[in-house]
Amino acid sequence: MRPRLLLAGFLGLLLIAPRVVSEFHVTLLNYIGLYAIVALGLVLLTGVGGLTSFGQAAFVGLGAYTTAYLSTAQNLPGWCVALGGSPWIGLLAGIVVTTLVAFVLGLLTLRLSGHYLPLGTIAWGISLYFLFGNLEFLGGHTGMSGIPALSLLGFELRESRSFYYVIWAVVLVAVWLTQNLLDSREGRAIRALKGGVVMAEAMGVDTARSKVAVFLIAALFASVSGWLYAHLQRFVNPTPFGLHIGIEYLFMAVVGGSAHVWGALVGAGVITILKQWLQDWLPRLLGASGNFEMIVFGVMMIFVLQRARDGLWPILTRFVPRRAAKRELPHGALLPKKAAPEFGEVLLEAKNVFKRFGGLVANNNMSLTVRAGEVMALIGPNGAGKSTMFNCVSGVDSATEGEVLFRGEVVSALNSREIARLGMSRTFQHVRLLPTMTVLENVAIGGHLRGSKGVLPAMLHLERGEEASLLAEAARQIVRVGLRDSMFELAGSLALGQQRTLEIARALCADPCLLLLDEPAAGLRYLEKEALAELLRKLRGEGMGILLVEHDMDFVMGLADRVVVMEFGEKIAEGLPEEVQCDPAVVEAYLGGVD
Ligand code: ADP
Ligand code: MG
Repeated sequence: MRPRLLLAGFLGLLLIAPRVVSEFHVTLLNYIGLYAIVALGLVLLTGVGGLTSFGQAAFVGLGAYTTAYLSTAQNLPGWCVALGGSPWIGLLAGIVVTTLVAFVLGLLTLRLSGHYLPLGTIAWGISLYFLFGNLEFLGGHTGMSGIPALSLLGFELRESRSFYYVIWAVVLVAVWLTQNLLDSREGRAIRALKGGVVMAEAMGVDTARSKVAVFLIAALFASVSGWLYAHLQRFVNPTPFGLHIGIEYLFMAVVGGSAHVWGALVGAGVITILKQWLQDWLPRLLGASGNFEMIVFGVMMIFVLQRARDGLWPILTRFVPRRAAKRELPHGALLPKKAAPEFGEVLLEAKNVFKRFGGLVANNNMSLTVRAGEVMALIGPNGAGKSTMFNCVSGVDSATEGEVLFRGEVVSALNSREIARLGMSRTFQHVRLLPTMTVLENVAIGGHLRGSKGVLPAMLHLERGEEASLLAEAARQIVRVGLRDSMFELAGSLALGQQRTLEIARALCADPCLLLLDEPAAGLRYLEKEALAELLRKLRGEGMGILLVEHDMDFVMGLADRVVVMEFGEKIAEGLPEEVQCDPAVVEAYLGGVD
């Protein structure tokens, strides 16, 4: 109950604030609201999606300048006079313009990875800033004045006290939309971006699309903030849309707690108020005028990055008792399943696969088949090329030569997302999960390709039926693999063995007929291995095909129906476990290859 009371208290304070504080403070609160909307976009983009942007101020500018231009009708060319004069037309046009510009910039920059991405955002942030300053019809560096006040239901919002409610209503709507999104299939896809593109794609997430979606949302939030700004100030010039302000927005998101929705509000509040105080006090204290607050901010940023990387929000909420997490099993309609293959049907067929990394031949003429209802083990010493083979088969990487067929269809040219859709699902040698999400949410990522509702229904919570089905399916798979007791725990708090089991549940959630498991027994204790073998036997009994890459001979010998042994990228033996075990070449590889 406590968090709800706090929220009610906060809303109450918001409601009465303009009646009790001075005009100056209302203005300050207005600015906090405007900044919070932009910071909220950055929470989604940077904090959740892991995509750093320094350029958000430019999108604020796009929203502000579009409405400034369209609503000051005297500037308009003849053909669009009919559009002019209304801030609401300005809002719509701002949304359209921002969507177009962000779409193009997103396509261009989101392909960049690592530090090239933030550098890219700096580049277009600067370009747009100079564009605003240099276009004659936008008033150049002097800017545009005479922007009309916003009117709502016949009231002209000329005062900051009346504008306050509009701004904060928008903030709250943006918080609601963001929270809804995060609590949905598309939200999980965005959160999965941080777990690495390879994992997300293997679970059927179109990561390029998710990146563009989150980039557009952040840009649109910024643009709406710009629209509000223009009609509040009734004047725009390029200064508030420069790179330096873009950095400040990022700063707000980080200080507040970049992965927390409410952190955006805290960050915007703290930075705005602090800036005001520092601007007032530092020059007096130092006896000289200047922008000293930026120096203090810089030092503060370094302190936050060192001491409180997750920002202020987690520190603040430490003192609030958490609402007891929902612990009942999720319920929902069953998701449709693919028709299961016949027992013994050949599911996977790799023919003469070669994979070269420069001069190194990691897979040299490898062939193997996996049937429905069998466990096929691919074994060999470290560095033999097993994971490489796995990646070629599952579409993470493409073979240099050779052909891979899945259920009779050539899949060599497909990417991992498309292959996952056909019914092949995998786990990773190095566990790839999202440690700050619950086991249930992590497993539900595996169900991504079985849902279809997009970002907009998610933001408006119009996809609750599908979401319930996805969570119920995830829960079923968690129970199936024996993780029932950990369902609502954070994935990061599980032991390695359980994390590997979680990955199997996640793979099962995609409704596969072929499971690819890369060293599932590595790091497991004896009893955990037994439990894993039991689970795999059960799945095999249900007709699942399993391709198992393993290092541990004992584990494989008790479980596999057939074994392929690799060494130095080549197949050196193939057959029943007991045959392979006695093969002199295999004995030599294993004894000679002990590491
Ligand atoms: P295993 O899974 O059997 O231990 P891998 O398939 O991981 O072996 O590796 C096989 C060989 O290919 C190793 O020599 C490894 O260094 C090399 N290799 C794997 N991936 C790459 C890569 N992306 N680039 C270059 N070499 C690689
Ligand atoms: Mg490997």
